[in-house]
Amino acid sequence: MRTAVVVGGGLGGLAVSGALARSGWQVTLLERADRIRPEPTAVVLWPNGVRALRALDLGAGLDAIATPLPDSGVRRPDGHWLVQPRQTPAERLPVVVHREDLHDALIAGLGDRVELRTGVTVRTVRAASGLRPAVGDGRHMFEADLVVAADGTDSVVRRQLAPEAGVVSSGCAAWRAVIPWYRAPSLPAGEPVVGEILGAGYRFVAASLGERGSSGASSRGGIYWMATAAGAPRPEPPETQLGLLRRWYAGWPAPVDELLAATDPADLVQQEIRELRPLPRAYGFPVGPGGVVLLGDAAHAMPPHLGQGACLAFEDAATLAALLRESRLPDAVVAYDRSRRPRAAAVVRQTRRMSAVLQTRGRLALRARDAALGTITPRLLGSAAAVAAQWRPPS
Ligand SMILES: Cc1cc2nc3c(=O)[nH]c(=O)nc-3n(C[C@H](O)[C@H](O)[C@H](O)COP(=O)(O)OP(=O)(O)OC[C@H]3O[C@@H](n4cnc5c(N)ncnc54)[C@H](O)[C@@H]3O)c2cc1C
Repeated sequence: MRTAVVVGGGLGGLAVSGALARSGWQVTLLERADRIRPEPTAVVLWPNGVRALRALDLGAGLDAIATPLPDSGVRRPDGHWLVQPRQTPAERLPVVVHREDLHDALIAGLGDRVELRTGVTVRTVRAASGLRPAVGDGRHMFEADLVVAADGTDSVVRRQLAPEAGVVSSGCAAWRAVIPWYRAPSLPAGEPVVGEILGAGYRFVAASLGERGSSGASSRGGIYWMATAAGAPRPEPPETQLGLLRRWYAGWPAPVDELLAATDPADLVQQEIRELRPLPRAYGFPVGPGGVVLLGDAAHAMPPHLGQGACLAFEDAATLAALLRESRLPDAVVAYDRSRRPRAAAVVRQTRRMSAVLQTRGRLALRARDAALGTITPRLLGSAAAVAAQWRPPS
């Protein structure tokens, strides 16, 4: 039986572990945390991410937890429309999913061929010719035909195999929360819960996950919001951070004030936004009779402006699983590299264009941006939708 070691039990690692196990591989999943713990936030999945999950046979699980998002346009903080909502066909629109629901669905897909080992921090990788690839935690070596590095932005495996890829700050921080459905504020009739608002270096997006079980039978429900602001994360405690957010976003269109007021500081997740620059020179490394691949944020961490990080991780997993069904190792590792690098580079290019627009500050630059946004944003958002539409799972 073919064996794989997957490093990292995030969305990417869970998705690929289940996919390999369902194809008959014996999988060992190594996670440094003492248990697999999702963030208490939500994730937007564009059609490419949804297609990838369906290709991984996780469609039914997804349908039970996903809430479709309408096209809600983009507004300025003064309420003026930068991009009006449009009639977009449902198949081009994203869905929003509570991350805890998604983790449950991915864990349910692991089956009994995945040996999950928590509390194991991988520190070394062996990629010597003639030997099977392996990773070690300082006490044990875990050897397999295939090693999948899904260990996130600070990937230890990537640092050793592709040290040229650097982790840099994207120049902004993000705050997110899900307000549980039973604490969701009642909004004035006709106020959209969903939508995106763009200000000078500030952005706020919100999406309704509905009531518990309302969209999909197993969904937790609630209202998800994410705020990004140029600059570094704040050192203050969550209560003070929430106070700052209320000040920064004061006077923005409803429901921004209402959502910030209804957020419990304990539910606030703050994060510095970081990315890989440059990207690794390779995503696949043939080693002896097998190989090592980079997957998810370990391969292409990027700012969340297009909501594509997890979608790409699922694309990676679906592509790898399909290639491993078609070809033998290490050919599949080479084919994975050829297929995934151009795709990730294209999405990262679009994301960087979006970063440049979103982080515009200064009065003149802002005026120019606002004058141009009416045309730039539909084009940019169009290309984001195109990025999402482009990808098809390998047959
Ligand atoms: C603010 C924000 C909003 C986002 N919104 C979206 C969105 O709406 N849509 C979207 O598609 N994407 C979004 N993303 C991106 C998405 O969250 C990530 O791309 C995705 O979660 C990456 O998953 P991963 O499994 O590759 O990495 P991670 O989730 O980072 O998982 C890595 C795992 O590896 C473990 N690990 C790390 N090092 C080791 C080690 N040495 N040994 C063992 N285990 C290790 C970690 O503990 C972790 O469990 C967003 C990101 C941010 C920051």
